[in-house]
Amino acid sequence: MWCRHYETAAAGCDAGFTVDASRVTFGRGVLAEVGERARALRIQRLAVFTDARIRAQPWFADVTRSLRAAGLDTAVFDAVAVEPTDASFEDAARFAAAGRFEGYLSVGGGSVMDTCKAANLIATYPTALRTYVNAPVGDARPVPGPIAPHIACPTTSGTGSEVTGFAICSWSALHAKTAIASPHLRPTEALVDPRVAMTQPREVVAASGMDVLCHAVESYTARPFSHRSVATPVIARPLSQGANPWSDVGCREALRLLAAYFVRAVVDADDTEAREQMMWAATLAGIAFGNAGVHVPHAMAYAIGGGVRTFRPAGYPDAPLVPHGMAVALAAPAVFRHTASTAPARHLEAAALLGADARDATTAESGELLAGRVIEVMRAIGTPNGISAVGYEATDIPSLVDGVVPQQRLLGNAPCEITKSTLAHLFERAQRYW
Ligand SMILES: [Zn+2]
Repeated sequence: MWCRHYETAAAGCDAGFTVDASRVTFGRGVLAEVGERARALRIQRLAVFTDARIRAQPWFADVTRSLRAAGLDTAVFDAVAVEPTDASFEDAARFAAAGRFEGYLSVGGGSVMDTCKAANLIATYPTALRTYVNAPVGDARPVPGPIAPHIACPTTSGTGSEVTGFAICSWSALHAKTAIASPHLRPTEALVDPRVAMTQPREVVAASGMDVLCHAVESYTARPFSHRSVATPVIARPLSQGANPWSDVGCREALRLLAAYFVRAVVDADDTEAREQMMWAATLAGIAFGNAGVHVPHAMAYAIGGGVRTFRPAGYPDAPLVPHGMAVALAAPAVFRHTASTAPARHLEAAALLGADARDATTAESGELLAGRVIEVMRAIGTPNGISAVGYEATDIPSLVDGVVPQQRLLGNAPCEITKSTLAHLFERAQRYW
């Protein structure tokens, strides 16, 4: 049987987990395969989702050339919102429905890939978007079946959306982030070409790398799958099924790669080895969290990102914004200090994999060791010092807590109960770290 971490907690808890394996092609130049891959999927009429900034990148010519050489009939949608909303998902869905496409290609960051997933879904099974959106925001109805083939090409080393069944958007009426989560949303193929990482600003590498780090640590420390109630029907096991032996494999290797390459990839844009390895770490952490689910830092990040007023980070479009990976990082040390007592050995192991010296540490020190190591990385790559550094004051904490409450999918994947007063305590602890 599995290690003690995965002993079934009680009668009625799940004794199995499902591995949703992604088809991934990784390596320099693989974007040039895209046309032939679309043909192999029997796609003739292809929707291409991207944005104007990405279309201007030198390597995008490989995509265009490959699609043309394969003789595909393409139409481009490049009006993807930087932070997708229910309205921008619906715009994209109208484009998809009108185009009668046989397949989809997304070339971009998480916003582009997620918009493509939602558009493909609604064009395949036309209905109101909210039908499939997670409760309590939407009706959380299951996606009825497979959607059209989708080839996803990530252009940042972060979100992992190319290998997950999640599509995230802001629900404008509630000012809350929400998601559609279904194995049917997972792209048919991911084409990961690390050349795209070479042209990213250091601030983007820093924020998206913190996202990778948190995908790995959160999946590793999520509630074990064996502590979740059996789904009804049993095959409706959620994507956020909790930590499991498969997700552990990706988490451990992603953390080891982060320890070796993350800071190097940020500080030296010419360090092609480090930037390539970060792309691989992002893929592995994406596969892990696509099979386990993240928890409290991501739930808090949606409130931190959603309530921003004036903070404008370097390296991003000039608008008030806390990039997703930065928002997750600002919550992470406070959360890991809090969750350490649920599984001290796991927190200690994560700290050691990330490069902390854990030789003489006791399990009682595991939360402090992991949080301390995450803070060291944050300082080395220029992450702001807590939520106060991106404009939040103590008086904002009640509204931040209210912003987390809709994230029930994520809070339910935490290794311990998270109440509103827990969240208030965590935001207090996240105000400053050094
Ligand atoms: Zn994330």
